[in-house]
Amino acid sequence: MVRFFLLAFACMGLWFPAISQAELDSARLICGPQMYQQISFEELLWIIRHKSRQSTDFSPPELRIEKLDNSGRSQKTFSLDTLQKTREAHFVNGLLGFDLNQNWKGLLDVEVQQFSRLKDSLLAKFHPKAYRVRYLQEERDLAKQLRLVAAGRSKTAISLHNFDLAADVGIYRKRRYLRRGMIYNKMGEIAKSIGMYWGGDFAGFPDLGHVQGLKNGAELIRKFPDIGFEYARFMQVYRQNLDAAESEQKEENFQDTKDLLKELAVIQVNKPCACQYAISIPTPIVWDTPFFAHVPAGWVFVEGYFYRLGTWQLATKK
Ligand SMILES: [Zn+2]
Repeated sequence: MVRFFLLAFACMGLWFPAISQAELDSARLICGPQMYQQISFEELLWIIRHKSRQSTDFSPPELRIEKLDNSGRSQKTFSLDTLQKTREAHFVNGLLGFDLNQNWKGLLDVEVQQFSRLKDSLLAKFHPKAYRVRYLQEERDLAKQLRLVAAGRSKTAISLHNFDLAADVGIYRKRRYLRRGMIYNKMGEIAKSIGMYWGGDFAGFPDLGHVQGLKNGAELIRKFPDIGFEYARFMQVYRQNLDAAESEQKEENFQDTKDLLKELAVIQVNKPCACQYAISIPTPIVWDTPFFAHVPAGWVFVEGYFYRLGTWQLATKK
């Protein structure tokens, strides 16, 4: 058995040619049809992430997934109450819940603590006379972030705020909150000198009070690839934003989006995906779950739609 997997692994290396720099730079993932022998529940969770139309208004109490592959037919039910602290649980939680901070707390623990120390040292170093400085509301859940996006007050669907890795500094003078002013640049200089990233440097969308512990979402995914699961749901949105920016020749404002798409490509390329709707009538089979994968027939069913199973591939820009 082990030998079979080793062989399968070796073959995979042969089937998937090395990624060229041009392909990686375009970071354009397309799902190309591909037959599989087996698929894991974790791989199915990623497919669901991309295809599920779940919104913040709807979080089901549980997730039932069924699959049929060369290891047989199996079903798994995940629910928030019974989740163990496993890697898989993070993905399920990402699908069922919207508290990103809570979900990834364990994984990001050290990172969050480190940022918290930076926040303390920023306040210790930046205390201008006649001003009062304090952190504004520091973390937000995804539902709130999405409301901000809808209201046009934030540009990113997921922000480092969601992971408690960003903070907003409020500066007050005579008890009045200052929205702008050179005093924020001074704060930004000090923040950068201690290793933070300052929102005033954000190309296109400067955010003077904002500080964060990592350069951008791409860096977060590079350090913690599993977090890419949260960003993956917005992959198409990021791609549309970037394409729009490129056609308006404003892409220099979207370097972070570019970086993000690149990291998402790196962690997903050669992994299973759901392609376009299946055209042929799928093999008749009975199941009663919203998610079902029929691997030998090469399709997956996600919330009422059939898709062909495929593999994420990188396409060079046309
Ligand atoms: Zn902020």
